[in-house]
Amino acid sequence: MSYPMSDDERAVIDQIERFAAEVLAPQAARIDEDSLFATVHLPAMAEMGLMGMNLPEEYGGIGLSGPALYAAVEAIAGACGSTASMLTAHFLATDSLLLGADDALKERFLPDAAAGKSLGAFALTEPQAGSNPADMSSFATADQDGYRIKGSKCFISNAGAADFMVVYAKTDRDAGARGVSAFVVEPKKTNGVDIAPNERTMGLKGGHVFGITLDCHVPAENRLGAEGTGFKTAMKVLDNGRIEVAAQATGIAAAAQNAAISYAKERMVGGHPIADFQGLQWMLADSATELAAARALAMQAAVKRGSGQRYSSESAFAKLYASEAAWRIADRALQIHGGYGYTRDFPLERYLRDLRIFRIYEGSSEIQRTIIARGLLA
Ligand SMILES: Cc1cc2nc3c(=O)[nH]c(=O)nc-3n(C[C@H](O)[C@H](O)[C@H](O)COP(=O)(O)OP(=O)(O)OC[C@H]3O[C@@H](n4cnc5c(N)ncnc54)[C@H](O)[C@@H]3O)c2cc1C
Repeated sequence: MSYPMSDDERAVIDQIERFAAEVLAPQAARIDEDSLFATVHLPAMAEMGLMGMNLPEEYGGIGLSGPALYAAVEAIAGACGSTASMLTAHFLATDSLLLGADDALKERFLPDAAAGKSLGAFALTEPQAGSNPADMSSFATADQDGYRIKGSKCFISNAGAADFMVVYAKTDRDAGARGVSAFVVEPKKTNGVDIAPNERTMGLKGGHVFGITLDCHVPAENRLGAEGTGFKTAMKVLDNGRIEVAAQATGIAAAAQNAAISYAKERMVGGHPIADFQGLQWMLADSATELAAARALAMQAAVKRGSGQRYSSESAFAKLYASEAAWRIADRALQIHGGYGYTRDFPLERYLRDLRIFRIYEGSSEIQRTIIARGLLA
């Protein structure tokens, strides 16, 4: 599918697709096998400006439109899911600043983040507050020149290598979601930020996630916007992030479908390429249809985002559909590979393991349905 974008953006995407095929794809199996942190690709990605693709040029970013950003993430995820996960977690942190911080804070952190000189993390989830982050118990107590933040976070992508983290914590315990504020914490320069070893996960083994314990001080100027605006910022960031999750899901599903098409033409059974069997042709047709639908829903969300209107429902449609369709597409692709698909000699089992998280993080499928239903019933 060709996405609506300018000629300049098309040139950037062509370059990213080449980089994905020539640099990322050949390393993807090793990253998975060795659980190698995908930050190994950070210098090359920084060199190309990829860490700032989502940021406007005034902060040193490329300022891609929604459709072009989607195409970029899709290409990267199709080559290496772990690398796309590391990259999009960085975007969650920089989007938090872009959408929630004042100019001074943006100017302090975004240019280095866009240049890939600093890596970001987005710290919202807590052990007792995942699907309903307003239940968080991390608390920031105002003191003389800033805040003391105490609490714990879990499953925070990139935290172990992060130069800055956007940490969400309550400043008012009794105000529910309106009591949440957001702060930049620089873990490498701040005492009292304890990061556990990375979790052992089913897939995206190079997209490392960490638990964090915080008992640290941050200056007042590290707060994003006014007290109590953090939850709103996080929800806006996730509206955006969910389109990127849809892009990751579609990228991996498209890689699985392409592998299945090639294999079906080559694999001979009973003197025929298996592509001759109508049962398999229909699987490929169903997958192609679902890929097209996933991309169309994501474009609808990306275009609406660009128009400045609210797009929470559209972004939920895109994430929900793409993450669930991607599972079916990769499963069919593995089936078409027969027993070989089940081995580690082929990437199909990795695709399935990597894909599984997209139905869980940045709001599970159940939460996406809740968002959509709320929009319908409002
Ligand atoms: C690999 C990975 C990377 C991650 N990266 C980050 C990150 O960078 N930053 C960050 O902040 N978080 C991150 N997360 C956390 C992730 O966003 C949460 O795991 C997710 O939101 C679900 O929260 P939970 O695990 O607490 O599940 P729970 O909230 O305990 O949910 C358990 C089950 O209950 C269902 N459920 C919950 N509420 C409802 C409801 N109202 N209606 C119906 N069903 C419901 C859920 O859908 C789920 O099936 C990451 C997680 C993983 C595994």
